[in-house]
Amino acid sequence: MASFDSSAILGRLAALREADAPTHGGRVLSYVYDSGLPEIDELAAAAVRLVQPVNGLDPTTFTSVAVMEREVLGFARELLHGGDDVVGTVTSGGTESCLLAVKTARDAWRAAGGRGVPRIVAPVTVHAAFHKAAEYFGLDLDLVPVDPATARVDVDLLASRLDPDVALVVVSAPSYPYGTLDPVEEVAAACEEAGVALHVDACIGGWILPFWRAADGSALPAWDFRVPGVVSVSADLHKFGYAPKGASVLLQRGRDRQRLQYFATTAWPGYPVVNPTLLGSKSAGALAASWAIIQALGARGLAELADSCRRSTRTLADIVADIEGLRVLGDPTGPLIAVAADDAVAADRRVDPHHWADRARRRGWLLQLQPGLTQQDGTHLPHTTHLTITPVTHDRLDELEAALRASAEEARGVPPVDPRAALSALPPGLGERPLDSDTAAAVLAAVGIGGDGLPEDQAPLLALIEALPRDLVERLLVELLARIVEPA
Ligand SMILES: *Cc1c(COP(=O)(O)O)cnc(C)c1O
Repeated sequence: MASFDSSAILGRLAALREADAPTHGGRVLSYVYDSGLPEIDELAAAAVRLVQPVNGLDPTTFTSVAVMEREVLGFARELLHGGDDVVGTVTSGGTESCLLAVKTARDAWRAAGGRGVPRIVAPVTVHAAFHKAAEYFGLDLDLVPVDPATARVDVDLLASRLDPDVALVVVSAPSYPYGTLDPVEEVAAACEEAGVALHVDACIGGWILPFWRAADGSALPAWDFRVPGVVSVSADLHKFGYAPKGASVLLQRGRDRQRLQYFATTAWPGYPVVNPTLLGSKSAGALAASWAIIQALGARGLAELADSCRRSTRTLADIVADIEGLRVLGDPTGPLIAVAADDAVAADRRVDPHHWADRARRRGWLLQLQPGLTQQDGTHLPHTTHLTITPVTHDRLDELEAALRASAEEARGVPPVDPRAALSALPPGLGERPLDSDTAAAVLAAVGIGGDGLPEDQAPLLALIEALPRDLVERLLVELLARIVEPA
């Protein structure tokens, strides 16, 4: 065994980590979910370490995996008001839960006699994981426009699309882009009438909405297994379950339906394969951490953290409403808000939310820029800046408020980025044929992106994303990300 210098190796890793965006302390208002409780992080780390060598592939060999999974699912089922017929799986994250909900729905639709290409119907605000699922599993995705002012979907419009080729309807509790709690009961009633399955994507809300109250203090409308017609719910442990990345729950109503989620084969000369999830060999680390955190926090601890998030969200929404030129989009439910320019004020008093986010970034606050989108019916959803609020936000509210106000002062009256200059730098004929990798890299360079990663200001990049044809911009983004990990 060659000797090695672990302190040098880990020293380099620590130096690399220094360059990361801060995962703790509330300066990054997306991606990370800091409970603000270091003892919870320590507990999670110890649990990960205890199962580090385990293979989660086989819960009959590594029986700890089965016990932990059963207990996590039991807790989740109670939280989401599932009965004895609700069963589930711990997956590696929200995307995997969504993928598996769609795969199950496709197979159930086929088993019921469906032929051809099935369809998923969902409000346009549904998470991109369902775009991915449709692409991976060969379904069409039928996106129902939402009202650009309220971000709510028209239930009658959605219901009018429920034909026999629909394998699954998906609604969100709440949606990631705008925090909209979709009208689950109304959609579920329409689905029951049409005989179509309904999935509730509670990836971001599943572990916090059970403890949430509306702004007036009243209970939220039912959005979980209390609603007849809801056949599956996804809820991410690695968001408001405060677990390390790699854990989500997918619960399904009905054992027979849920068994369709599995892949099993004995048609090879190796071990019999029986997988509920996409992976084969897999870590039990995030499961063990989730299991430990659930016991440490319990419903009471989760409720306290939810309460902190609710108060901070309320305060931040009030602050945004008070900043001239900005507004909160729609009527969000849960710990997230999307901020748009306030078109009710004159252009020279308006604040472009992307310039605002870039100014906040210079102050050390990372908000998430979201592009605008033209919907199927031609209406336009404005571009926004997204904030996810976590328990640590509370301790930084004053600092954050100051940064948000100062950033708005700087950005007020600055018009949104006009992408025409960047577009004119692009070679003509672009998008007429598939781009090869070198051309894509050259195009990125022509608009000043690539090489050393992203430019400091992101508003110009988002303006390009909005202005370029979708296929083209998706190809360019693939090139950008692919080159980041290419060895020198
Ligand atoms: C985060 C999220 C997902 C996808 O989850 P990942 O854990 O990032 O894979 C799906 N739906 C919603 C509503 C989400 O917020």
